Amino acid sequence: MNNIVAIVGRPNVGKSTFFNRLIQRREAIVDSVSGVTRDRNYGKSEWNGKEFSVIDTGGYIKGSDDIFEGEIRKQVELAIDEADAIIFVVDVEEGITPMDEEVAKLLRKVTKPILLAVNKVDNGKREQDALEFYNLGLGEYFTIAGMSGSGTGELLDKLVEVLPELPEATEEENPLPRFCVVGRPNAGKSSFINALIGEDRFVVTDIAGTTRDAIDTKYNRFGFEFNLVDTAGIRRKAKVKEDLEFYSVMRSVRAIEHSDVCILMIDATRGFEGQDQNIFWLAEKNRKGIVILVNKWDLVEKDTMSTRDYEAKIRKEIEPFTDVPILFVSALTKQRLLKALETAVQVYESRKQRIPTSKFNEHMLAIIEHMPPPALKGKYIKIKYCMQLPTPMPQFVFFANLPQYVKDPYKRFLENKIREKWDFSGVPIDIYIREK
Ligand code: GDP
Ligand code: GDP
Repeated sequence: MNNIVAIVGRPNVGKSTFFNRLIQRREAIVDSVSGVTRDRNYGKSEWNGKEFSVIDTGGYIKGSDDIFEGEIRKQVELAIDEADAIIFVVDVEEGITPMDEEVAKLLRKVTKPILLAVNKVDNGKREQDALEFYNLGLGEYFTIAGMSGSGTGELLDKLVEVLPELPEATEEENPLPRFCVVGRPNAGKSSFINALIGEDRFVVTDIAGTTRDAIDTKYNRFGFEFNLVDTAGIRRKAKVKEDLEFYSVMRSVRAIEHSDVCILMIDATRGFEGQDQNIFWLAEKNRKGIVILVNKWDLVEKDTMSTRDYEAKIRKEIEPFTDVPILFVSALTKQRLLKALETAVQVYESRKQRIPTSKFNEHMLAIIEHMPPPALKGKYIKIKYCMQLPTPMPQFVFFANLPQYVKDPYKRFLENKIREKWDFSGVPIDIYIREK
């Protein structure tokens, strides 16, 4: 399980510049595979061999002209709730502003690691100017320049040193599928879970100090054994109940990272919107299995909207990863809940499946022979061998004489052919082309 690091601070101090620097190297790897990055405010970073997730809280409100102090305050509170460590960025050019003082006041009460980053320290004189930030009462600070990267190494050394050790559930200890139920507020997550497990476990409980832990609870229902990931962020009815993009991401990121399959609940009466999409791509980016449940289907007039139309609309929104199960359910009338669980288990199994190398070659090489990668600059590209990698999530490698000439459309073609033959519904797939 990854630690979650939140970057907070008022607008224009340089949060996103710093964030981009943190995730740069890794994002480049992800991008070359999937071709798309959806959420530019969430990513993974690594320092001294320690991997962690980073969220730029400011990224979610950027663009709005007038950002109220209250808005920043809520963001900081939520970050305090959900993150394992916080990097508070301030701007040496501007000095301490009243808003900085506000934020510092909130952070001084927190026992989690807080790192104060004084940004835009581009030269020696500014090192002097930075001294005033002692007045924030947060102790030691780090002078950085997000733009050039200077000073960030020291900050990161400290960060990975203070990040807490998180419990790691190994596959041997716990071989059951781990599911999480995610979605925007009021989609019906708690109702669904209660209907499924038949007890009021997921009612409002606000247990101090449990925020950090994702808890797996084992269930045996309808003949299926599974774990439900019950993070505080989901369990607790938010103090901040605002229906904003940022909140649903912040609240679900830990559960998603900790699960095998994410059950994304959407409210049928609202449709598949920006936030749903954000959570969807969060799961996809983490290479998790996904099942979409369109909940409250009991409220929809069936003659105005058919499941087929509704489904088509959602598939359009999740392009190009459209091979995902979509079910129409009602937590209230308990319609198709068993089917939902069955599907989640199926996705889990599909994600784990291993295709024997001989079978994979036999099938795929015949297709490739029939439809080889298009020749480029007069050169013919040959793929002679392929296999599934022994990784926890499906990854396939194709060995070619000129791997750099195999472009994304052909990779998508290969992916589609794999999906046609083997069931990977709800499972993100990686395709790599390597030199043979
Ligand atoms: P955010 O609103 O906090 O995410 O801030 P941005 O990352 O968008 O940066 C705001 C402005 O500060 C931009 O014009 C950046 O180019 C500038 N900036 C960011 N980091 C540095 C730095 O290290 N030095 C200087 N001089 N400017 C910076
Ligand atoms: P959460 O915030 O995602 O956990 O959502 P809740 O489970 O608290 O549900 C929000 C509201 O939607 C509650 O008033 C539920 O009674 C209602 N609700 C949940 N599922 C359904 C459903 O399938 N049909 C109808 N009609 N209402 C539902």
